[in-house]
Amino acid sequence: QTSAPAATPLGVLQEVFGFESFRGDQERIVEHVTGGGDAVVLMPTGGGKSLCYQIPALVREGAGIVISPLIALMQNQVDALAAVGVKAAFLNSTLDADQAAQVEGDLLNGDLDLLYMAPERLVQPRTLDLLSHANLALFAIDEAHCVSQWGHDFRKDYLGLSVLAERFPGVPRIALTATATQATHQEITERLSLGAAEHFVASFDRPNIQYRIVEKDNARSQLLSLIRAEHARDSGIVYCLSRRSVEQAAEALRKEGLDAMAYHAGLSESERAERQTRFLQEDGVVMVATIAFGMGIDKPDVRFVAHLDLPKSVEGYYQETGRAGRDGLPATAWLAYGLHDVVQLRRMIDQSEATETHLRGQRAHLDAMLALCESLTCRRVQILQYFGQQAEPCGNCDNCLTPPTGWDATVPAQKLLSALIRLDRERNQHFGAGQVIHVLRGKVNDRSTASRHDQLSVWGVGADLSETEWRSVIRQLLARNVITTYGEYGTLGLAPGATPVLRGQATLELRRTARKKRGSPTGRR
Ligand code: ADP
Ligand code: ZN
Repeated sequence: QTSAPAATPLGVLQEVFGFESFRGDQERIVEHVTGGGDAVVLMPTGGGKSLCYQIPALVREGAGIVISPLIALMQNQVDALAAVGVKAAFLNSTLDADQAAQVEGDLLNGDLDLLYMAPERLVQPRTLDLLSHANLALFAIDEAHCVSQWGHDFRKDYLGLSVLAERFPGVPRIALTATATQATHQEITERLSLGAAEHFVASFDRPNIQYRIVEKDNARSQLLSLIRAEHARDSGIVYCLSRRSVEQAAEALRKEGLDAMAYHAGLSESERAERQTRFLQEDGVVMVATIAFGMGIDKPDVRFVAHLDLPKSVEGYYQETGRAGRDGLPATAWLAYGLHDVVQLRRMIDQSEATETHLRGQRAHLDAMLALCESLTCRRVQILQYFGQQAEPCGNCDNCLTPPTGWDATVPAQKLLSALIRLDRERNQHFGAGQVIHVLRGKVNDRSTASRHDQLSVWGVGADLSETEWRSVIRQLLARNVITTYGEYGTLGLAPGATPVLRGQATLELRRTARKKRGSPTGRR
């Protein structure tokens, strides 16, 4: 009844969805796809991608097929559409045979406006056959970056979607993503045969988000200070790498009187659903989560997103922080990171069983993330540059607000490299950061005594720097590929970038370690 086709895109926007006007590129995209054109849409999270295919699907004859990897969200999406009178359904493994047959019948009878399914379902010969007998308005390929093998979220089944261009040449296709490096953009275009499509690239700037990256000291108490000082009673998301650290951090925040919940894949489905609902509906809940949480979550008033562990890529960081401040009001993206994060993530990559190409991709992603952390200039400029977009220094990130100072660390770097070389050549010994720093600072302990480190020429040559300063140097040299870590214990070794430093052909300007200021609650300089 209610979804009787309103004739124009604007009519559908207003009468079905209840919005006054289109935003940004929405109108141009909707017109283009409604007219039968193919489109590639790069738009940040919260930009309003859904309407870009939902409205054309309603205006055009037939059903719009929406391809999404997020099976867990399909029920929600369909419910939300049903609530405004749109005839939507999904086909996935949660349906039994009768339910699936019902949906298929509805599709063939022309009783559906939108049909959601995962790519692995779509490429089954049976599904393709079904679709070839249906009247189709369009194909929408959501989360299209999943087709990119270099991307951070590759899904093999997306490669099969190239079949759509061959099997359904007359049906318009619209690919959408919130991840937009130029490489990913190009891969989407090529692999989905969208060479003739129109491309719509929105600005990826989120001006209301204040980006801050601090050195990890005691991450949980740093976070607590941040929340108390700036976000008391606000809704927020805290990301951790592992289930265990999620549980521990949530527990620690609860002990301090915060309304914090844990969320990770180890919880039952009903527990997760219940916690998600609480987070969405109540004010001031802090969700402590692995990155399993957040995809497709549309809560406008998340005031802060905090990372207690280093994200694996700039894409991931951008997507996760993008969940803050969707309402356009000021929000904080805060990340605490330290040497341990670098060592841990490198180790995870080294120990994973991915292909060599994939590993190289993962290392490159991590390097870009580290470069962002160690940057001396505007964070926003760096992030946007990563997505191929130009910007001016923003005045709303830590580096703009409190410019960090650089210092010439060429000589300390040479000392460190010499120490690694001596330990290797004269003792055939390889250590993690802790013991290497002891050698540089000439700190006597059981191991240094037993190994006669005090007889090395590099013993104590770095006593002028504190242990914290050395950790910062090591972290930054790791980020710049002057040194590397390997093995289970994060043993330090030379990387290709070491040679010019040792030869005195390169100077190294590093970010100065934040001196701990008393009463500086958020660890900002
Ligand atoms: P994305 O998929 O790009 O992350 P969504 O499609 O989920 O974004 O849209 C984000 C939010 O913005 C949703 O709550 C949606 O209802 C709202 N929205 C989208 N377009 C408009 C518009 N033209 N006017 C008002 N609200 C809009
Ligand atoms: Zn800035």
